[in-house]
Amino acid sequence: MEKQLQFYSTNLNADNLRFHEALLKGQAPDKGLYMPVAIPLIPTDEIESFSNMEYWEIAFHVTKHFLYGEISDQELEKIVRDAYDYDVPLDHVCERKYVMRLDRGPTASFKDFAARMMGRLMQHYLKAGNRHLLILTATSGDTGSAVANAFYGLDNIDIVVLFPKGEVTDRQRKQMTTLGKNVRVLSLEAKFDDCQALVKQAFADPGLDYLQLSSANSINIGRLIPQTVYYFYAYARLASPGEQIIFSVPSGNFGDMMGGVLAMKMGLPVKRFIIATNENDEFPNYLSSGKYNKIEPSRNCISSAMNVGHPSNLVRLLAVYGGIMDEKGNIRKKADMELMRKEIWSVSITDEETRKTIGDAWKQWKLLLEPHGSVGWAGLMRYVGCLENQLPADQLCVSLETAHPAKFPDEIRKITGMDPQLPLSLQGIDHKHEFLSDLANNYQDFKSWLIENYK
Ligand SMILES: *Cc1c(COP(=O)(O)O)cnc(C)c1O
Repeated sequence: MEKQLQFYSTNLNADNLRFHEALLKGQAPDKGLYMPVAIPLIPTDEIESFSNMEYWEIAFHVTKHFLYGEISDQELEKIVRDAYDYDVPLDHVCERKYVMRLDRGPTASFKDFAARMMGRLMQHYLKAGNRHLLILTATSGDTGSAVANAFYGLDNIDIVVLFPKGEVTDRQRKQMTTLGKNVRVLSLEAKFDDCQALVKQAFADPGLDYLQLSSANSINIGRLIPQTVYYFYAYARLASPGEQIIFSVPSGNFGDMMGGVLAMKMGLPVKRFIIATNENDEFPNYLSSGKYNKIEPSRNCISSAMNVGHPSNLVRLLAVYGGIMDEKGNIRKKADMELMRKEIWSVSITDEETRKTIGDAWKQWKLLLEPHGSVGWAGLMRYVGCLENQLPADQLCVSLETAHPAKFPDEIRKITGMDPQLPLSLQGIDHKHEFLSDLANNYQDFKSWLIENYK
């Protein structure tokens, strides 16, 4: 029989918590991130039984392994059915290479998968405890809108989104700022990493304890767990029993990739992960050299949601491989680099290559990619090129497309000459009223703003 899981902080200086406590807390008091004390294993026959299930059913079975004793089956089923009411297309490209489109949720980015489930779980526990939370979230593009949409209109949750003014597109901004109600949006003359640093400082500030702050960034374990599910789903739809699969994941803050690594450690037969970054190449450099240097300030690339110079979730990745990294990026204990290199391959893709890949994929296969998915696909192409003689021709590979091409119309139009059609969820926002305030990149100002607005 499975036991109730405990979650520990990667800085090893905070109490272990149960799932609902870690979910409502976000970041641990020692600034570490929560991880399961033991990663639950899913037996092979259970993984194989997923092959004829709907997405929400797979979500139910996979997440149940993390939530044992924390929620009733009936409640969990209600949550996943409600959260996952949209398609998850697996487009065939060539040979046995596919693109999984994680862009059919209400804000047309893969972040809907995590935000919708996390919001519903939080709501469930807050209601049960008659509590209120103030969610702070920094966004480099899509987190803010996914979270704002997932939480919009709930009575016992308020949300503040911080974003770097120059780094999100008009449409990404409008997806957050046109909501109103319990969603407040702050625009900063700063980088994503600065926004994230302000949020983290607020969490660690005892003077703000009374606000019951929590996070919805990928530092929240509640974001990570739902992101294990689509890896199982792709496998269930495409693999034959026992077969190994390769995933290519376009990565910024590494929450998506961590979902995949957890899925592998839960028993999913993954041959390798390809971690494709844009020009923020701190991870590929770390993987090859063992030395970690964050990039400050982060580099601006057209895959703007991946402009991250120090990915928060790296501390979790190191934890999986037996290492310890603190929140500043200092390695306190070396990870098992040999095993990490066996399971993960990483590459940095320039903007030039990102654009070229969008053009080539369209010309060659009528495959429409946006900049983030293009980084993933380019990573896969590079990997296949490097390992030409070692990979079987029929190797199953899935590259993740993390946003809808219509979110980046100018770039796509320039390169392919076509105008991607707006999904229903994005129609009509261009002319709506925007609610937003400007904020200086300064912790004291941020703190005063919070105190003034949430007494
Ligand atoms: C957030 C985001 C990413 C990066 O995901 P991480 O979990 O931060 O690595 C990639 N693509 C899009 C479209 C995103 O919004």
